[in-house]
Amino acid sequence: SAAHSTAGRLYYKGEPMAKILVVEDESIVAWELQSRLQNLGYSVPEVAFSGEDALSKCEEVNPDLVLMDIVLKGKMDGIETAEYIVSHYGIPVVYLTAHSDEKTLERAKTTVPYGYVLKPIQDRELHITIEMALHAHEMGKKLKESEKRYRKSEEQWRTLFNNAVLGIYRTTPEGNILMANPALVRMLGYTTFDELRQRNLGEDGFEPESPRSEFKERIEREGEIIGLESAWKRKDGTTLFVRENARAICDSTGTILYYEGTVEDITQRKSAEETLQAERDKLRALFGGLNRTQIGIDIVRCDYRIMFVNETLRREFGDVVGHVCYQKFMGQDEPCDPCPMTKAIQNGTVENCKLLDSHGRHIELISAPLPNPDGTVDRALEVTIDITERIETERALRANQLKSEFLASMSHEFRTPLNSILSFTELMLLELDGSVTSEQKQDLEMIKESGEDLLALVNNLLDLSKIEAGRVELYTEPVDPVDVVAVVTSQLAMKALEKGLSLTTDVFQDVPVVMADEARLRQVLRNLVENALKYTEEGGVHIGVYYENGEVIFSVKDTGIGIAQEDLKIIFDKFSQARREPTKKFGGAGLGLSVAKELVELHGGKIWVESEKGTGSTFSFSMPPVQK
Ligand code: ADP
Repeated sequence: SAAHSTAGRLYYKGEPMAKILVVEDESIVAWELQSRLQNLGYSVPEVAFSGEDALSKCEEVNPDLVLMDIVLKGKMDGIETAEYIVSHYGIPVVYLTAHSDEKTLERAKTTVPYGYVLKPIQDRELHITIEMALHAHEMGKKLKESEKRYRKSEEQWRTLFNNAVLGIYRTTPEGNILMANPALVRMLGYTTFDELRQRNLGEDGFEPESPRSEFKERIEREGEIIGLESAWKRKDGTTLFVRENARAICDSTGTILYYEGTVEDITQRKSAEETLQAERDKLRALFGGLNRTQIGIDIVRCDYRIMFVNETLRREFGDVVGHVCYQKFMGQDEPCDPCPMTKAIQNGTVENCKLLDSHGRHIELISAPLPNPDGTVDRALEVTIDITERIETERALRANQLKSEFLASMSHEFRTPLNSILSFTELMLLELDGSVTSEQKQDLEMIKESGEDLLALVNNLLDLSKIEAGRVELYTEPVDPVDVVAVVTSQLAMKALEKGLSLTTDVFQDVPVVMADEARLRQVLRNLVENALKYTEEGGVHIGVYYENGEVIFSVKDTGIGIAQEDLKIIFDKFSQARREPTKKFGGAGLGLSVAKELVELHGGKIWVESEKGTGSTFSFSMPPVQK
């Protein structure tokens, strides 16, 4: 349709007429040929009469084809000229020859012949030969171009094959390696392809967990495999994890010729995944274990968002994941200053600090940077420990120690001036510095009594504080109760007499010797007898010592005011007297019994009281006997 015909030759729209250069040394033949060619629809802009002439006209008109007489006059014959034209200009040449001279034709054949036309020339033969030559030349040109293109793409493919990061292979279905690029050679731990090809990519080239039979089954069934992850064995026996794409190349009957595939090394990713999984398992186990304790665990991101809390923290703060740490944990509107999490992430260090949380608890917080799988750090793992109890005990301990130290030094400072007050009062009462009136004597007696009370108090304070500070040491030795009772009785006999009270003793015969610090034992007994005398107005005080259940019991029985039932429980507490009204008039700070109790217990004994209000009291304590 787009074609039209001129004298038998087909021209396509837009296609110029083929230009032909005629080379013929006989001018009449040349012109005749020119007009015949023009009649056949060709354009013949020039005629050349010699080889040299042909070359210059070729350059001038650039013909599509040269019609060349083999026999030419002049320096160059037709064959020589044709050779030059073909090789230098790439223009096809068709020979014209009158002779069927075998030799000449043989020579002509060694050039690149596009055809021969024998004289006398037939129009039809001429036309066909020219068309064939043009066509052959066109084909040849195209072939060359596509060859060039192919070579180029082949080159590109080579470059890709050689420089690819992906491994590329071709194997037979049995696993014999036909081709492997340098990347794959390297991945598998070899240095050259020749070394690798000794190996078979059959069953034994893979780790047991990814048998090659799986690959074969799938590729045979589906023709291709995409994204298969498998574990290959390297030359040195280590594992190469890969992601593989492959396809089967078949012949026309569908028989598999070979497998072709690409291999991506995912070992690093795989091992990162494994490490992560192991880490996760470890953390989970750790967290699980810690959930049963009071240790809190959380993960906080650098934007203060809580990413994770363990059960302990969830119990205390509720579901706080996704919330801001300083608001939820600390009850603050702003981040802590300094923020241990920020410090841990920025400096890559483990931070340790003490904080008060939103519940008012003392918390020890350890904040450690927690790297992401890719090595970046934007979160911290935190461990919190509630140390409230520890801190409170520490404080109480420190306060107690301070108090004891204070009391010890104060008592000492008190005693010195007190002793001199008492000595000088005594001096005045004995009238060694001159006589005193009976009224002055009464005042001096008051001073003396109060002074003695004060001294007793100070002594008790000193004892208590020493005991509490753990600074009282007992010098124990075998002590005979009879001696102790005798000394205390003789010391207090005057007091009893002054008050008109009896003071009797009864030490059982078989009472064993006790293991005690004699001075302290005397102090305890004396304290009890003093109390008994103090709180008794009529009757008397009886000291008894007996042996019961392997223990020596000292008892002090009086017929005094007795102790109310509700007070019995607190009687040995420090300062217990201050709480009770009726005995306030007797003076004393309520420390004596506390000291007695501490001293008895230091000896490994017990102290107790039986009493009835208005009838009297019996204080008893036990002492360990010397082991026989
Ligand atoms: P105080 O210095 O007040 O005597 P104590 O520790 O020795 O301190 O005694 C504590 C309190 O126990 C006394 O204040 C008193 O109320 C009561 N008490 C102690 N001994 C007797 C007793 N024998 N009879 C009655 N009450 C007693």
